[in-house]
Amino acid sequence: MTEAFADIRDSVGALCADFPGEYWRRLDSEHAYPEAFVRALTEAGFLAALIPQEYGGSGLGVAEAAAILEEIQKSGCNGAACHAQMYTMGTVLRHGSEAQKTEYLPRIAAGELRLQAFGVTEPTSGTDTSRIRTTAVRDGDSYVINGQKVWTSRIEHSDLMLLLARTTPRDQAARPHEGMSVFLVDIREARDRGLTIRPIRAMINHHTTEVFFDNLRIPASSLIGEEGRGFRYILDGMNAERILIAAECIGDARWFIEKATAYAGERMVFGRPIGQNQGIQFPIARAYAATEAANLMVAKAAGQFDSGEPCGPAANMAKMLAADASWQAADMCLQTHGGFGFAEEYDIERKFRETRLYQVAPISTNLILAYIAEHVLGLPRSY
Ligand SMILES: Cc1cc2nc3c(=O)[nH]c(=O)nc-3n(C[C@H](O)[C@H](O)[C@H](O)COP(=O)(O)OP(=O)(O)OC[C@H]3O[C@@H](n4cnc5c(N)ncnc54)[C@H](O)[C@@H]3O)c2cc1C
Repeated sequence: MTEAFADIRDSVGALCADFPGEYWRRLDSEHAYPEAFVRALTEAGFLAALIPQEYGGSGLGVAEAAAILEEIQKSGCNGAACHAQMYTMGTVLRHGSEAQKTEYLPRIAAGELRLQAFGVTEPTSGTDTSRIRTTAVRDGDSYVINGQKVWTSRIEHSDLMLLLARTTPRDQAARPHEGMSVFLVDIREARDRGLTIRPIRAMINHHTTEVFFDNLRIPASSLIGEEGRGFRYILDGMNAERILIAAECIGDARWFIEKATAYAGERMVFGRPIGQNQGIQFPIARAYAATEAANLMVAKAAGQFDSGEPCGPAANMAKMLAADASWQAADMCLQTHGGFGFAEEYDIERKFRETRLYQVAPISTNLILAYIAEHVLGLPRSY
């Protein structure tokens, strides 16, 4: 079967060839941002894939965007530094006013503005988003923001952030997930006026931070859509995010399988290639089969999303199956390389750490299983 979107894949692959393992290794050791890589992707228009043509983007579907991200990961690069630039704007596109769309989307498409930070997670609420404590209180022509977010990634490399805050206390809202609102915050104006960013040193080079809001005053025009409906708007964007991250996992899995296969064919131990042993072959073959199966689910979810069909079950299953496949492939690849898998120069330990994230974020595997149990199988809600 020929791979879909071969032209897109070829162009992405050619771009990524300029950013080999040494580039990522150096950034990793310096905790630095892949500025040149992100600039190259932006200039090539890949990060504006999902922005409609009327706003200066390419107007492509999630299926094409998935091919872009898969190819980035398959090349050994890491799209996590900027993948949110592709889909975070979806909330503005779907729920923003015409004035917000014309003000921001063309500049995001052109790469003049980066919107790749979103603040949902908080330290005390965890996955239970209804319990966020960050508040936005209307005061004349402004909202005043107080609270804290955690794991807000890429905010130091972003001009704008999407922020979820409570505008009605949980116990006064009609339902727990109502009474939250989404704001488009101009980070450049907010810094030193109530917004403080503190980097978190993490297992991976992910440019993630804690963010504190201390009486930050933002214009009332920063509100996206209607007050109180923010959680619904964020949910609307989650299917695209899950499909795209699943595609990244497929790319990671393919990278691990390719590395392992090549090494198993050339590494001689006991006078023969290690790949001649079924103990080495079978885990590679198993990872390959798992990746191909997960990829079918990613394609199904992307197809449903692009044709406007409900895609929640497929998007969630794609994310879980692809994250499982990439983690299985990562573990197999490390094992296939024996001790050399631990050496930084092989890039395997770095990719191993990077792909582990997707068991936890942007949604953990347990929560996907709970979703399938409740919403697909009709079992009682477990939490
Ligand atoms: C590197 C990194 C980058 C991130 N970037 C962002 C970002 O840019 N913006 C943002 O808003 N967030 C971001 N996140 C946060 C991420 O979305 C959360 O970490 C994730 O949703 C899990 O939430 P939590 O960490 O609070 O875990 P918790 O909710 O505390 O859960 C801990 C564990 O308990 C399990 N668990 C919880 N409840 C249940 C239940 N009912 N049933 C079964 N198991 C359960 C979970 O599956 C998990 O394994 C990032 C996280 C990381 C690590």
